[in-house]
Formats: sequence, structure tokens, C-alpha cells
Amino acid sequence: MALLESKNVSFHYPDEPHPALDNVSFCVNEGDFIVLCGASGSGKSTLLRLLKKEVSPHGRFSGDIYYNDQPIFKLDSEVAAKELGIVFQDPENQLVMDQVMEELIFGMENMGFSTEYMRKKVAEMIHFFGLDDLLEKKTYELSGGQKQLVNLASILLLEPRVLLLDEPTAQLDPVAAKEFIGMLHRMNEEFGITVIIAEHRLEELFALADRAIIIDRGNVIYDSTPRNVTLQIGKNAENNLYSYLPSPAILYLEHSLNIQNGELPLTVKE
Ligand code: ADP
Repeated sequence: MALLESKNVSFHYPDEPHPALDNVSFCVNEGDFIVLCGASGSGKSTLLRLLKKEVSPHGRFSGDIYYNDQPIFKLDSEVAAKELGIVFQDPENQLVMDQVMEELIFGMENMGFSTEYMRKKVAEMIHFFGLDDLLEKKTYELSGGQKQLVNLASILLLEPRVLLLDEPTAQLDPVAAKEFIGMLHRMNEEFGITVIIAEHRLEELFALADRAIIIDRGNVIYDSTPRNVTLQIGKNAENNLYSYLPSPAILYLEHSLNIQNGELPLTVKE
């Protein structure tokens, strides 16, 4: 059974001439690590937001989204808030407390965990994220990368099953971005958290993800392993993907999804 399923989902923002999503279908199994790729404006953010009802956009929606076999919009709010975490691009807007320690326990307090349990979980998380040196700091003193890690840690403390991320490293420097993505990988591997991430840093993510879903102008045009996607695009991707990816094939992937002359660069869906 799929944990998340999108069936023929279309979405139209009011007064927009074209749909932001057009008949999008895909399945996500528990523990999957999925990267959503596509040019800016292709619909990645709209899709992620539709999976999290508190931040779903307003507009004309058709199709079905199921979480755990239930229509996602009918999901109990507390279950949705706890089980589906979301991380956005700008870490500034997501931190709500003045101090790192307060930030880490804020969400847990609202979920009604016991004090003893919270202490134990926070200690585990601080260790996992290596946040010891930051605990007493004010959140405004942190770098962008540190803010995004604290943000991730505070969401992880709520014990989500699914983590949705909308270009979370867009404002981070390359070193911080790599650290952040490495942490996501560990969360996926060690806690089995399902990850769906929209990102442009495909170089790192293609080495980790189970699947890449390529979206073009609101359509899923490719849904396969990163290897298959890359093979489809580049001719010589037989070797180690990680070393291969900075090559022109990946640039092609990132930039050429702006369709030229009405031609799709990818036509085969395996
Ligand atoms: P991506 O995340 O891939 O950049 P988006 O989901 O943000 O793509 O956008 C998909 C399409 O929907 C684009 O054409 C964009 O202009 C449009 N769009 C996004 N947000 C809004 C909005 N709030 N109102 C109207 N149109 C929007």
C-alpha cells in the first residue's frame, strides 16, 4: 500500500490562464526518498503544498490525494500536523522562538508530549544534529545553514512520517547545503522518514534519492530512478552517477526543461 498517492491531480490558480498542475499521478511508499525536479514555475511548490493541507493554495482542484488510504483533505488536523512536516526555502520565516532550545521544544509542547519525554527526545536530537554548541544561542545569531538545521530538528522532534521540502537549501552556501542534505539522508536511513524534496541541487540528491520525478509545466514527464532519468538524458551515464552528474547532462536536466520548439526532451516513461 502506498503511503501517499496522487491520482489525476489538477490545480488551477484563480485568474491564471494555465493550470499549475495537470493530471499529476504518482505513488510514494513509506521510506522513499524522492526528488522533485523541474524548471522554476513547473509546479513543484504547488504540488508539495497540496500534500499539506495547512498550507494548500486556494484555487480549482480536481483529482484525489490519499495519505494512508484516506483522502488527505479529510485527514484529522492533528494527525496531518504531526505526521506531515514541511520545510520551506527561507529559514527566517520558519523559526518562531528567540532561543534555539526554546525553538526545539516549542512544537513538542504544542503536541502535548510529557516533559520527561520531551527532555529525552530533545537530548537525542541535539546529539543527532550536533547542535550542542548552539543550544544557548539566540536564533537570530545563527547562520542560514544553522537555522535550517534547527528548523529541521524541531520538525523531526514531532516524529513525522513524511517530510516535504520546498527548495530548503536555496539560501544556503554549498557547504551548509551539503550538510543539510546529508542530514536528510540520515533521517531517511536511520528513522525511515519518507522524504519528498523539490531542489535544484541535483548533483547531491541524485546520488541519494530512490526516485526522481520530473515535472514540466504541471505535468509529470518522468518518474524513475535518478540513474534511469540521467541515462535517458545523457548518453554516457553508465558510470558512477555522483562523478557523472556535474557534466552537461545535469545542466541539461536543470535548464532544458523549458521546452523548446514544443518538443519534450524526455518522452519515455519507464
Ligand atoms: P515551482 O515550485 O516549480 O517553481 P510553482 O508551483 O511555484 O512552481 O508554480 C507553478 C505555476 O503556478 C507557475 O506558473 C506560477 O506562476 C503559478 N503560481 C504559483 N503560485 C501562484 C499563486 N499564488 N497565484 C497564481 N499563480 C501562481
